[in-house]
Amino acid sequence: MRLLSYIFPSIFWLLFATALLNASNVVASTNSIEGIRVWPAPENTRIVFDLKNKPDYKYFTLSKPSRLVIDFKDTKNNTALKTLANNDPRIKLFRTSTAKSKANTRLVLELTKSYQLNVFPLAPAGQYGDRLVVDLHDKNEKAKTIKKTVPNGKRDIIIAIVAGHGGYDPGSIGAKGSYEKRVTLAIAKKLSILINQRRGFKAVMIRKGDYYVKHSRKTELARKNKADLLISIHADAFVSPKPQGASVLVQSSRRANSEFTRWIANRQDESELLGGAGEMIKKTTDKNLAFTLADMKKEHTMSSSYEFALHVIKQMKKVTKLHKSKPEGLSLAVLKSSDIPSVLIETGFISNPIEERNLNSKNHQQKLAKAIFKAVDSYFIENTPQGTLLAATTMKKHKVRSGESLSVLAQRYKISIATIKSVNKLKSNVLRIGQTLKIPRAG
Ligand SMILES: [Zn+2]
Repeated sequence: MRLLSYIFPSIFWLLFATALLNASNVVASTNSIEGIRVWPAPENTRIVFDLKNKPDYKYFTLSKPSRLVIDFKDTKNNTALKTLANNDPRIKLFRTSTAKSKANTRLVLELTKSYQLNVFPLAPAGQYGDRLVVDLHDKNEKAKTIKKTVPNGKRDIIIAIVAGHGGYDPGSIGAKGSYEKRVTLAIAKKLSILINQRRGFKAVMIRKGDYYVKHSRKTELARKNKADLLISIHADAFVSPKPQGASVLVQSSRRANSEFTRWIANRQDESELLGGAGEMIKKTTDKNLAFTLADMKKEHTMSSSYEFALHVIKQMKKVTKLHKSKPEGLSLAVLKSSDIPSVLIETGFISNPIEERNLNSKNHQQKLAKAIFKAVDSYFIENTPQGTLLAATTMKKHKVRSGESLSVLAQRYKISIATIKSVNKLKSNVLRIGQTLKIPRAG
């Protein structure tokens, strides 16, 4: 749809330009701007120029008022500029200005203020040809760290939710034309509402609207918000319409290992990535100790991810078919944050007509969100981080005394033996005297 909407005017302009060319014998240019796409996001705006050939360009900025001037050498502009800036908070106007040569195009972007610039060409990929990308970043865009502490000093458990794709990246496209990026955002929003309704939990939406967040920024935002868990929501697709069902992906160990090797290599800069262990790694001069600490942290994060994935599968299979009945280990950029347990949930196949319809249904989206929420809830009841409101309100501590057994405690606290065992990760029914058990409050 979007492609059509800019191709159509481009065709019009192309015809118009050709007519003009024949009429007045204007100098011919080899390249042309065939489309301009503007993607505003909370912290930046991305402008993509679609070109016929590889761009030859120069740019500079002017102040008072702030402007970005881009000279496209030997290039004709075939795109209407008038309404391009309409929905963008950072650009006031796109216009042309007199270029040095008639074969060139000089584009002026009138900006609301000065921005940090990132300008780079992109080679053809997929449906796109040569592009020039301009990113306007807000200056001092440091995300505010959430330090939401309740009066008694107990913090919330933070869940970072990444709705897959967005903006110029639609993700997979269903047979009936649904965009994965819309489905993922709808489910993510429903999930965040459920999480925020639960006392002691707080959801952080890494993407809130139709814009793209690059991978490094996703993990950066999750870290700044001190996320306890990162959930990426996607919908699968395949070349044939047949495959169906949900699956849950976790980081495979091979990728995690290489990530860690790199982190250790740059440990002066990256030590914050490892949290507490990172601080120790930075201080220690003992290389072996550093590796051991990082390894422990990595192992813990990976096993936590896997365990959470099991909770998700357990809940998801109640509301949808499963494509894979076990968590799948994969190397994906979004899962590479080895310091925050992370899972990627493929909520179904958008390429399957029945699932495409389901994924678009608000009712089904709510069911999926609820299943993921239940998994979050049950996972954190079993693995409650210290210092959280959940730990303070849902768990009592019990020191085992002589003569006490699991069944005695289960009866006393009105919970099942299985719950006590699962919360405390007990492998046998034998209790030690003096052992401290976590006891969830009933109801
Ligand atoms: Zn996806």
